[in-house]
Amino acid sequence: MNETILIIEDNPQNMYMMRFLLEKNGFRVIGAETGVAGIDQALGHKPDAILLDIQLPEMDGYAVAAELTKHEALATIPIIAVTSYAMVGDREQILAAGATGYIEKPINPDSFVDEIKHYMHSGGCNQENDQ
Ligand code: MN
Repeated sequence: MNETILIIEDNPQNMYMMRFLLEKNGFRVIGAETGVAGIDQALGHKPDAILLDIQLPEMDGYAVAAELTKHEALATIPIIAVTSYAMVGDREQILAAGATGYIEKPINPDSFVDEIKHYMHSGGCNQENDQ
């Protein structure tokens, strides 16, 4: 059965690119444009991973990550933040909010899917054995 990835992202071009790359690699993709819709989708579908944009309208990625990790049913789902290249402080903050790892925007089509798989199948940034 194909693994399902939920993408929470308000930018249509980024959504299109990530969806395209993941579907091409055999993943099933569901999308949400806001944090509230994303949390609903996460609870309804129990995806295998969640890709989370930080800069979202109304409820930002930090708040979404904090909310997602409150739900026991979602506790084992890796949350992968999508951060802007320059925002170094963001990464520590989003990991503290409960994300498993992060990838940088702009999306690199050559490494994107491998990075996602890495975070789905390792313990993420907070694990000592993660390189
Ligand atoms: Mn955004």
